[in-house]
Formats: sequence, structure tokens, C-alpha cells
Amino acid sequence: MTKHDTDVIEAPVEQPQMKLGSAMAIVEGVQFSSGGDEWKNWGQNLTCSPERVFYPTKVEDLKVIAREAKLNKKKIRCAGSGHSWCGAAVTNDYLVLVQNMSKIHAPVQSKELQAKEGSDGWTVTIETGVLVSELDQFLRQHNPPLALPSNVVPGVVRYGGILTMGCHGGAINARTMSDMITEMTIINAESELVTYNEAKDPEAFNAACLNLGLLGMIYTATLKVEVMNTRLRMIDSYPTLDEICKGPEAGMKLMAMILKNDSTEFFYWPFKHFMKPEQNLSIWLKQWERTTAAAETPEAKSQLDARPPMVDNPFFSEFHVGERVMETPDALHFHFGDGVTTVVDAGCAFKVDKDFKNACEAIYELVQKNWEFTTSMPERMGTALELRFIKSSNKIMSPAYDEDPEAIYCMMNVMAASGTPGFEDYSVKIVENWISKYKAKPHWPKMWEKVPGVYDYLRREYGDRLVRFNKVRKAQDPNDVFVNDTWKPLVQGL
Ligand SMILES: Cc1cc2nc3c(=O)[nH]c(=O)nc-3n(C[C@H](O)[C@H](O)[C@H](O)COP(=O)(O)OP(=O)(O)OC[C@H]3O[C@@H](n4cnc5c(N)ncnc54)[C@H](O)[C@@H]3O)c2cc1C
Repeated sequence: MTKHDTDVIEAPVEQPQMKLGSAMAIVEGVQFSSGGDEWKNWGQNLTCSPERVFYPTKVEDLKVIAREAKLNKKKIRCAGSGHSWCGAAVTNDYLVLVQNMSKIHAPVQSKELQAKEGSDGWTVTIETGVLVSELDQFLRQHNPPLALPSNVVPGVVRYGGILTMGCHGGAINARTMSDMITEMTIINAESELVTYNEAKDPEAFNAACLNLGLLGMIYTATLKVEVMNTRLRMIDSYPTLDEICKGPEAGMKLMAMILKNDSTEFFYWPFKHFMKPEQNLSIWLKQWERTTAAAETPEAKSQLDARPPMVDNPFFSEFHVGERVMETPDALHFHFGDGVTTVVDAGCAFKVDKDFKNACEAIYELVQKNWEFTTSMPERMGTALELRFIKSSNKIMSPAYDEDPEAIYCMMNVMAASGTPGFEDYSVKIVENWISKYKAKPHWPKMWEKVPGVYDYLRREYGDRLVRFNKVRKAQDPNDVFVNDTWKPLVQGL
């Protein structure tokens, strides 16, 4: 870049994960900062100081960024809301923050999709920086009101981030978010806008749906959405661990519950009372059922939200035993957390046995290990377990990939407050154990890179699928512009 095409302008509003200090500049209409501003992820376990941080607003800007990277021989990574814990977005070259690319197009109804899937055939096309909460709001105002059938819990993450990493909700039949895509457009290393869909090239489309940010900068995604004919009944209970996991019938009972529900999620925290050393023998169970009953009124909602806490743990103090009927997005994006504490998380997908025995065993074992870890130091109070079940994905880079569409995967996480001493080493051992016992695959956005031998393991387990993915990748990025230190050991030399 030459000096004459650079203008100094005012810095934009500070992003939560950016520590801005340097002046802003413009190249061919695209804003960037070039002072080594520090980027930090939400969980605060990652930082980097990119040479340039770009703020694109339109597709032409992405093309300019790819051209600049080529000219200056730089790497590119994008970031959404920075809610991942692995180094997928980290770069000291060019970081592209996509929050200003947030256009949502009018939903369309396709006869072809109706016939193919027996659904209402609605899809919506969004730009990469759209927040989960923004799309929810947009879709519910549509006539007819629309919704995604399943989603990640937080509303503050962006679609580029969640689709890239194969994120998921808890709906057993909705699989992962990547499985809801019908089309993607991505700017590749040559500044070309490439469209991916099943009809054009099924193999490339499959790779694009869960692309780890390795095919280029996502511009848009088109997602299947459904008419909000039903609502969700969210049923919270606090059974004992023994009720859920103990005895010869436990696995089959768990399976029956998972298959009966629309979605199911478990949380466990080690102490019954906050700061008091009595072990928690109960596990929090959230179940969602589809219903045609009316959603709670805003008045009922305020009353329910104002109830005093029944869980003696500030992070889960909004949890209450009982039932509520809500519109789909309200039920899926329930609140937890204390608004201050951030967390770090290691998580994996593993295939559940036919009798669900391995899921029961894994829950019990993690409860026990978390107890030992937590009670060995007072600062480890915030350690927790979370798990959901989904059906398999056919996306070749999904940790829940399976040729059997009916296979069920347990998506299990161990988490702790950011800065919990020893958690990184502890979580490495937990993931190692899941790998050795259940052939678990790390969920990409979580912490997994420090697990000894993990890259050899992933290359072996993804095997031919990784080779196929890499072939698609190489066609779009022959010089590895989008490959950073997280992805290099996975794809190099293939
Ligand atoms: C509190 C919390 C709750 C969570 N709950 C869930 C959950 O319920 N289910 C679940 O599956 N996950 C969950 N996660 C994980 C989270 O959904 C993922 O980390 C997701 O990737 C975050 O989206 P983001 O916008 O923050 O993306 P980032 O973390 O900023 O980016 C993720 C990846 O996407 C890439 N990327 C982003 N935009 C583009 C683009 N335009 N082009 C190319 N690459 C791009 C980045 O380079 C990076 O590799 C949770 C995380 C937190 C912190």
C-alpha cells in the first residue's frame, strides 16, 4: 500500500475485545487501524496484536482486504464476537472484524425446498456479522413469524463465527447450525466471490458449511428457517445425579428422555451452597418440548424473572425449578451467568452408545473429577459441567460427523471462571480421557490445541475427510493466506 491512498480518520466505537490506541486509516474505502492494537477474546485466554485490524462494511471491502494481504504477503483471520477459546481467530497479521456486515435479506419461500424437505421451505440470507439476537428479532417480526429450530445459547455471537466452527444447540433433530445452511458465499484468497451450494458442487458445499475460516472470508450464509407455529415449554428440574445416571436402567431412561424432548441440557456445579464445602448431589436438567400452548405474557415473564434465586450460586441464580412456555428464541437463549464473570471451556463430541451407558459414565466421572479439582483450591469454586445431545452431522469437518444420520452425539463441556488456577492443565487431561475412552473429537471453538498429540489424533481420525476438505481449501487458498498457527499443524503437508 502507498501513502497517498491512506487517510487518517477517527477511531470507531471500541469493541469489547479490542484495546484501541492507534489511529485509523483507510485503504480503498476500507477502515483499518495499524498500530498493533491488542485483540482479546471474551474468555480472556487469548490475545494478539494484529498489524492491521480491518472494519469492512461491504463485500467489496473483503475483496480489498484479500488484495492487500496478497500484495503485502500477510495472513488473514476474521473474528466475530471473539467468543471462541481456541486460537482460530488469532493473528498478528491482518484481523478482520466483521460486526459491520450485518445485513439481513427478506426471507424467501422455495417450492423446491418444500418438496425436498417436506418443510415450509423458508430460508433467510444474512451477512457474516449478524448477531444471533438480531436475526431472532428480525425473523419474529416477519409475516409469518419465523425462527431457527435450534441455536447456540448466547445471542451475542455472530453467524460467521458459529457456522464456521460447527456450533450447535440442544435440539436432537436439528443437528448443528452448519446443517441448516443451503448456500454460502465466501471471498477467497484471490478476492473472488465464490458461491457454494449443493447443486453446484456438493463436496465444496459440504466443506464450506463448516470451513474453520479456511476457505476465505465468509460474506453471506443462507439458512433454513421454520414458521413459528409452535412454542417451547421449558421445564427445569434439579434431580439427583443418581436419578439420572445410576443403575442398570439409567442409560435407557436417559435415552428415552432425550428422544422424547425437543432439546435437553444438563449443568452441574460442585457445591450445593456457594462458598460452603458440601458436595452438590443434584444436577440441573433443562428440557424443552414443542407446544401449541400460548407463550407467557410479558407481565407473567416479568414476575417470573423477578423471583428470588433458588440456586445458591451467583452464576446460575436465574435458574428456577418449574415450567414456562415461551416463543422459540426466548426459550433457547435463556440467561445464565452473573454479568461479570467470563469463563473458559474445553468440550468434545462423542458418539453415544446404543444404551447411553457411556454418557452416564462420562457424567459421573466428570462430576467426581470436578469435585476433586475444585476442592483442592478455593479459587477453583467456579468449575462446572454442561452437556447436550444432538443427532449426527454430515459435514465432513464436524466433530459430530457420522454416516449414520440417526447416531446421537453427546456434546460435553468442562468450564471454569477465566483465570481459575490450573484449569488449562486440568481440562487438557479431561479431553485426553474423553479421547482415549470415547474417541471424542474436540468441538473446534473450545480449548483443545494443548492436548498432547491432538493434531496427530485429529489427522488420523478425520483421515480421508480432512484430505477432501483440504483439497477444497487449496483450490481457494493455494498460498495458505487463511492458515494461522491453530490450523497449520492440521492441514500442512496433506
Ligand atoms: C458464553 C458462551 C456460550 C456459548 N454457547 C455455545 C453453544 O450453546 N453452542 C455452541 O456450539 N457454542 C457455544 N459457544 C461457543 C461459540 O458459539 C463459538 O465460539 C462461536 O464461534 C462464537 O462466535 P463468535 O462470533 O464469537 O466467533 P469468533 O469466536 O470471533 O470466531 C470463531 C471463528 O470463526 C471465524 N470467523 C468469524 N467470522 C468469519 C468470517 N466472516 N469468515 C471466515 N471466518 C470467520 C474466526 O476466524 C474464528 O475462526 C459459546 C461460547 C460462549 C463464550
